Amino acid sequence: MSTADLSLRDRAALLHPTTHLGRHAAQGPLIIERGEGIHVWDSEGRRYIEGMAGLWCAALGYGVPELAEAAAEQVRKLSYSHLFGSKSHEPAILLAEKLKELAPFSAGKVFFGHSGSDANDTQIKLIWYYNNLIGRPEKKKIIARDRAYHGVTLGAATLTGLAVNHKGFDLPLDYVRRVRCPHFYREGLPGETEEEFSTRLADELEALIVKEGADTIAAFIAEPVMGAGGVVVPPAGYFEKVQAVLERHDILLIDDEVICGFGRTGRWFGSQTLGMRPDTMSLAKALSSGYQPISAVLIPDSMYEVLEAGSKELGVFGHGYTYSGHPVCAAVALKNLELMQQRRVVEHAAAVADRFQSRLRAFADHPLVGEARGVGLIGAVELVSDKASRRGFAAALGVAAYCQARAEAHGLIVRAMGGDTIAFCPPLVVSEADIDELFDRFARALDDTAAWLA
Ligand code: PLP
Repeated sequence: MSTADLSLRDRAALLHPTTHLGRHAAQGPLIIERGEGIHVWDSEGRRYIEGMAGLWCAALGYGVPELAEAAAEQVRKLSYSHLFGSKSHEPAILLAEKLKELAPFSAGKVFFGHSGSDANDTQIKLIWYYNNLIGRPEKKKIIARDRAYHGVTLGAATLTGLAVNHKGFDLPLDYVRRVRCPHFYREGLPGETEEEFSTRLADELEALIVKEGADTIAAFIAEPVMGAGGVVVPPAGYFEKVQAVLERHDILLIDDEVICGFGRTGRWFGSQTLGMRPDTMSLAKALSSGYQPISAVLIPDSMYEVLEAGSKELGVFGHGYTYSGHPVCAAVALKNLELMQQRRVVEHAAAVADRFQSRLRAFADHPLVGEARGVGLIGAVELVSDKASRRGFAAALGVAAYCQARAEAHGLIVRAMGGDTIAFCPPLVVSEADIDELFDRFARALDDTAAWLA
């Protein structure tokens, strides 16, 4: 089918997720046809470096034959079975064991879903259920950060701190409380050090807890590095200071590793890189390198024991999805993690991260770039109209969107986000030469953007 035909039929049939629908109707889609390694090809045969690993997920890259084979083999053997009512199957059992082995905290049990959003909904429901069972029915509010992204289902969207995910949807719901985004470049005060900024954020958190009453607050949720909110790496000492506050008030820390999990920051989990001590953890995306939709929630045995004992009072644990632990998804995720271990993909990511970060940070000298930031193989540049005052551009100008389009014209897929930030998150299997090529192409896009603005 021709690109023109597909484009018309797309607009006649699809409601696109997270898309400006008016612009889409006018411009049509970019149709991606196939992928191999770190590259994808569009329907016109143009090749791109997938500088975002899809939506931060294609960790092993595209077209890995072992993953295709794992899916085919499992479809042939048992295409579907479920975990309700004590039914089980080998792929889910082995994957749960693998996650317990890899987890950087004492994860006792694993609950499976199919998206990061439903994992975070499960987090909310599990913590409420748990607090009801231990006789703390008032301890229900959850603290989340401005600019956080935790998904778009009703529960998770409430935790998300981005206006675009609330406006027009009658969200957020009432159980969330919000604290400041740990974005030093934007929120730090003149003369303040990163450590002082972290102390201020921890003090603000404590003031909120005291105002609300610690007995009404169940948990604090955080991404180790914020992704969709603009790739915000927390300031020095942040989690250490925040956790001290949480521990003082008996508030759980939910670690949303949906982007950072499985090597993105140069360690297996972002919590290891950023010094977090999670109580529970959400995983998705790179869990299967995006080959199958699967997510996981990890909880400690101390929490599971309460749920199990609670069956005397509440009967069936009434939460779960038709596709919780789907055998094909689980088999592919297990193979993905085995390949990551065999090929030492996390070690590779850590080794090439220096190159990635040094090329990225060199953009800080560009007249359009206010800040270049990141850790491991994730990063962003924030575009400004005036470096000295850090003033951004009028949203209507669409500067980041223009830059993204120019990058595509140069054969590179990146992501424009709010606040005129451009994100980079390539497959973890990139080489140093790939990283150079990626940023060479981006440099051309940035110069085009500067010329357009001039
Ligand atoms: N949590 C984080 C940190 C994410 O980045 C995302 C998606 O980008 C989600 C949760 C939601 O995941 P999903 O889109 O699979 O529902």
